[in-house]
Amino acid sequence: MIKENEDIKASSFTQELPEDPSQLNQSRIVEKACFSRVNPEKFPHGSLVHTNPLLQAEMGLENLNERELLALTLGAHPDTEGKTFAMCYGGHQFGQWAGQLGDGRAINIGEVENEGRGYALQIKGSGPTPYSRRADGNAVLRSSIREYLCSESMFHLGVPTTRALSLALSGNKVRRDPMYDGNPLDEKGAIVCRVAPSFIRFGNFQILAAREDKENLEKLLKYTIKHHFPEIEGDLKTQAVSLLKAVADKTREMIIHWQRVGFVHGVMNTDNMSIHGVTIDYGPYGWLENYDEEWTPNTTDAQNKRYGFQKQLKISLWNLLQLANGLYPLVDDAAPLEDILHEYDDLIMKEYHQMMCAKLGLENWEETGIGFVKQLRGLLTKNQIDYIMFFRLLTEVDSYSEEEIKALLEKTSYQSEEVLKIQLDEWVEWFSELKEHVQKEGSSKEERAVKMNLVNPKYVLRNYMAQLAIEAADEGDNSVLNELFELLKNPYDEQPKMEKWFAKRPDWALEKVGCSMLSCSS
Ligand code: AMP
Ligand code: MG
Repeated sequence: MIKENEDIKASSFTQELPEDPSQLNQSRIVEKACFSRVNPEKFPHGSLVHTNPLLQAEMGLENLNERELLALTLGAHPDTEGKTFAMCYGGHQFGQWAGQLGDGRAINIGEVENEGRGYALQIKGSGPTPYSRRADGNAVLRSSIREYLCSESMFHLGVPTTRALSLALSGNKVRRDPMYDGNPLDEKGAIVCRVAPSFIRFGNFQILAAREDKENLEKLLKYTIKHHFPEIEGDLKTQAVSLLKAVADKTREMIIHWQRVGFVHGVMNTDNMSIHGVTIDYGPYGWLENYDEEWTPNTTDAQNKRYGFQKQLKISLWNLLQLANGLYPLVDDAAPLEDILHEYDDLIMKEYHQMMCAKLGLENWEETGIGFVKQLRGLLTKNQIDYIMFFRLLTEVDSYSEEEIKALLEKTSYQSEEVLKIQLDEWVEWFSELKEHVQKEGSSKEERAVKMNLVNPKYVLRNYMAQLAIEAADEGDNSVLNELFELLKNPYDEQPKMEKWFAKRPDWALEKVGCSMLSCSS
């Protein structure tokens, strides 16, 4: 069904890849197919909470009015009729192969092309699909606000990410047990319309490899290269190897950005890894406050801390190894895939060091010892220093005097003055080495500050901030959501009227559900 002048086109994914012959919308195993046709639920009482005019314009959709945007978000826009589908993928969850997962509550509604760029649209929370397993296909307002605000904030921070076009209340209640402790609540249901070059994940390849469905694996590879990596050439084997290399490069870039801004994804399962190296599936994520490399906000992972902050570097490699295994049937030779993974390991450590030096305002990263950065990481941990505030305020250090260093630590530490005093000598020593590096490089304080402020954000979406937006929005007051959305558009700028958001985590947030502890319930 091709209509003229429609804004949203049918996804090439559905036109070029094998379709599930059944249209039964019931949890089931779907084999020999990459997707199932599925219609979103109907939401007659839905209403818009927020829209994103900048992204709308970027996508060439500025002509959509509010009524149409609402319809789009609820999966009821006439342009998307007959085009909606859910993808089949698998994945490793917390290190274990989990078999078929798939879009359990995200429904793909079509594609938009504007100024040579393609955008796939997905509505998350729009009802069950064959991949919903035992869940309901819905999403709650709390997790939808978190995805909506955070993905846009990441974009403005310069971190590769899926984006968010609009957020609506579904008009339905959704039952959830937010802390998995037997206390279910009826919460407001919501839907986010999110956007990415495509929603293909490592797991889309993995599921086909696991099922030894080489025919469709080859089709998916060719489709992915044709539409998303057109620069890749060569025979099938070369294409598969080159795809791993391209995805590894993009993934590495994303992870270095996460470490730079202090973002902890929380659920780096391979079904949550995009082949475009964009941050996807915002669940129990968090932002580092007191520096702690093991920290993860995800209560499900509290014991093992598999996905803790610093582990993200190595876990990304582990995840790429799973993608390599997913592509292996098309290559039949482990060596070229292993070479890429070994190279990844070397490069990510080097780029991490380079990035940390940039945060310190040092360009000669090759001459700055890894030990020097490691020592800082140790001190930040020991003194519970706020990651964002420390690096942002570091530009103020000028004389490197003990008083100046002490003042910086007092402003940024979650510890008492007495405890800080004990470590002061170590800090003074570390800062004297920093001073030597800075003097050797010879740039002025002002020049360094300009560069540092471009890599050290002033404003990020701390969990307590998202929580304040959620609590207000739950009462029908969207003012905090609006304020944060605007604030986070310019995270590197001084915004004097918004200084209250440049602050350490308040004490009340330390033990509060939704702030320092989050489950996967969403
Ligand atoms: P996640 O941990 O959110 O990445 O989800 C893992 C898998 O569970 C994915 O296949 C999701 O689509 C699915 N899933 C998560 N929550 C729900 C839900 N409420 N209803 C249906 N499927 C869900
Ligand atoms: Mg997911």
